[in-house]
Amino acid sequence: MLPVPTINPFTPPRRTLMGPGPSDVYPEVLAAQSKPTIGHLDPLFVGMMDELKSLIQYAFQTKNEMTLAVSAPGSAGMETCFVNLVEPGETVIVCRNGVFGERMRQNVERVGATAVVVDNDWGEPVCPQKVAQALADNPQAKFLAFVHAETSTGALSDAKTLCQLARQHDCLTIVDAVTSLGGVELRVDDWGIDAIYSGSQKCLSCVPGLSPVSFSPKAVEKLSQRATPVQSWFLDQSLVMGYWGSGSVGGKRSYHHTAPVNALYALHESLRLLANEGLEQAWQRHQQMHQTLKTGLEKMGLTFVVDEASRLPQLNAVYIPDGVDDGAVRTQLLENYNLEIGAGLGALAGKAWRIGLMGFGARRENVALCLRALEEVLAQ
Ligand code: PLP
Repeated sequence: MLPVPTINPFTPPRRTLMGPGPSDVYPEVLAAQSKPTIGHLDPLFVGMMDELKSLIQYAFQTKNEMTLAVSAPGSAGMETCFVNLVEPGETVIVCRNGVFGERMRQNVERVGATAVVVDNDWGEPVCPQKVAQALADNPQAKFLAFVHAETSTGALSDAKTLCQLARQHDCLTIVDAVTSLGGVELRVDDWGIDAIYSGSQKCLSCVPGLSPVSFSPKAVEKLSQRATPVQSWFLDQSLVMGYWGSGSVGGKRSYHHTAPVNALYALHESLRLLANEGLEQAWQRHQQMHQTLKTGLEKMGLTFVVDEASRLPQLNAVYIPDGVDDGAVRTQLLENYNLEIGAGLGALAGKAWRIGLMGFGARRENVALCLRALEEVLAQ
């Protein structure tokens, strides 16, 4: 027998989360998650899932029948789109202007397809002219994949224009909305997005670990015409939909995997709060909080990585001033103010901080705390 470990219950501190995610979780969401667990095929739970589906449809602004929450984080949502839709030998145009575009490229290669990469510098949005050229140069391409809100830099790309270009070339679009959903304008049906995924832990201010996903009828058709089975059993949407509703035999849900019951209560609550506030109001609130934060940061002499025209309100990447110790500042913020801001990622590691204003975190108290704490720490 191994000795009995003596371990106390884990008691996390109450931090203010202003990094790139997870964001501050709504108290109502934490309360929803601690409600009694019921069976994942209990009729009451199934009814809750139906509501959840309509709430995800509202957040994405889509009528897509194939809309659900993947029982895993945003990376699994990304993988869901690529493994279901892209077949070996196909060509995908992948836009890369930060860490997550590169991850899309890796997904394409792992399904045995060819990625044609359209590069933009870190901090820039995806350039529509470059994409138009890549589409013209690669008539065999079946997909255009891009990140709407690049969390590694804080750049927002013009999803509407990129989707228009893809349609002109008969390409389906795969869009990463992990950081954009709930924080900036996003209209899946109006913009003609075919496959989209997000994450629960950013502007939805839900607990981490779930990924809302939606496929257009054209994407569903592509999935149904696959010559080869989806290589991932767990992420195969045609099987998952037997559990989530449409596609189920005789309207009955069938067991696919044990749903993360309490986490889905949490997502239901966070999306309900978003719907109560109203999507457009939430987008505006993010913008207003960004303006207040920006004014304060600029007064301190900090400069933004991304130009104003394509700057995300919910992810503020600012350069670390010369001579300032990145790690020491973030440690002081955490230890003395219980405040987390994000480090730079990839090419911006050690060069920038990423200050998140996401969901419940996009509020006046957070902006005020962040400005006061940063000012005091930098003054030292
Ligand atoms: N895509 C983007 C744009 C992200 O910001 C993230 C996470 O930060 C992901 C994908 C991956 O999501 P997750 O960490 O939930 O797996």
